[in-house]
Amino acid sequence: MGNITGFRHTSFAQEVIFASGALAELREAAERFGWRRLMLCTSHSVRANGQVDELQSILGESLIMVFDHVQPHVQDGQVNLALAVAAENNVDVVMGMGGGSPIGMAKAIGFQLHLPIIAIPTTYAGSEMTPVYGITHTDENPPRKVTVNDPKIAPTLVIYDPQLTLDLPPELTASTGINALAHCIEALYSKTRNPLSTAAATDGVQHIHNALLACYQDGKNLDARTELLLGAHLAGLSLSSVSMGLHHGLCHVLGGSANIPHGIANGIILPHAIRFNAEATAPQLFPAAEAMNIPENGINSIGVIEALALRIHELIRQMSLPQRLRDVGVNESDIPRLAQIAFQNRTVQNNLKPITDVMQLEQLLRDAW
Ligand code: NAD
Repeated sequence: MGNITGFRHTSFAQEVIFASGALAELREAAERFGWRRLMLCTSHSVRANGQVDELQSILGESLIMVFDHVQPHVQDGQVNLALAVAAENNVDVVMGMGGGSPIGMAKAIGFQLHLPIIAIPTTYAGSEMTPVYGITHTDENPPRKVTVNDPKIAPTLVIYDPQLTLDLPPELTASTGINALAHCIEALYSKTRNPLSTAAATDGVQHIHNALLACYQDGKNLDARTELLLGAHLAGLSLSSVSMGLHHGLCHVLGGSANIPHGIANGIILPHAIRFNAEATAPQLFPAAEAMNIPENGINSIGVIEALALRIHELIRQMSLPQRLRDVGVNESDIPRLAQIAFQNRTVQNNLKPITDVMQLEQLLRDAW
């Protein structure tokens, strides 16, 4: 009994429907909620896959608007345009179908117009479960991503349909799948972890480990796609109730200041962040090591975490994702500046193991270079 610590946990009013073919259940759900004027935010590739047509045939005339050119990282100009159109057309619910960007756009519109939000994810990024969105302010130099956090942002209805993920290309499967794995890892050692986030993250690691490589090798494998989407749901659920640390803070700095796509940055940084944190977080990471079949017998705790970092490094290599910062356009001379920016980053500084000297970050980035 003596080692049970206190915690806080906030949950959100969300209905989650998870099933192969679940998209077809949207019509019944919309009727039940009383939604009659639906707006869809999505991206070109989701339209090209035929999924917008499918949604149109399910919803019929109640789908009154489609904004189908959401760009990555939710640009402020696009949000303002879509907000005006949504208000003019008396929309009563905003849907985001696609990756984290269209879902972020739907969240921004829904929150600002006090409307409910529906999320239908087709990647593994996890935004559908969280009460947060980011908007990129393009009039600043360099552009700056600002996050907004409010319980009302958590989507009211989330529909997970693994069939919508069958066309996700291998590289996006790999990079957004590693992003989901990173959500689980950071949830396990988060300063604000709680019993539910730990249970969801541990189970999430297990499903992602079982299915990610299989999905990368054969995108049409529905069983593997279903298991990976379940892992991503659990990762998003754990992410929704905890704060992130060093790994996510660094990935945001590398996205904003070195223009590295989020999932790619995740793949490069994750093994290094695990190693950096090993001495402070080993007991919290044991469930992840166990879920990835790493034996504990006879190895000391740091050895187990090193084996976990190596296993993840190997998975990333098998999926041909970049593994070094030098491979994605970062020059060695950029490292001190990136380390300085990261040292000021709130999420980096929210890490369980204190970061007291900028040289700690410089060394980590050099290792990742
Ligand atoms: P994304 O939404 O930008 O999509 C990446 C690419 O994948 C796009 O070109 C898109 O068209 C394509 N795509 C998506 N689904 C597809 C499919 N089924 N078939 C073919 N192509 C498809 O990227 P993402 O990685 O999903 O999300 C990243 C964004 O989400 C970032 O802006 C990140 O900050 C944000 N995010 C937010 C949260 C949160 O909690 N608020 C969590 C995770 C990510």
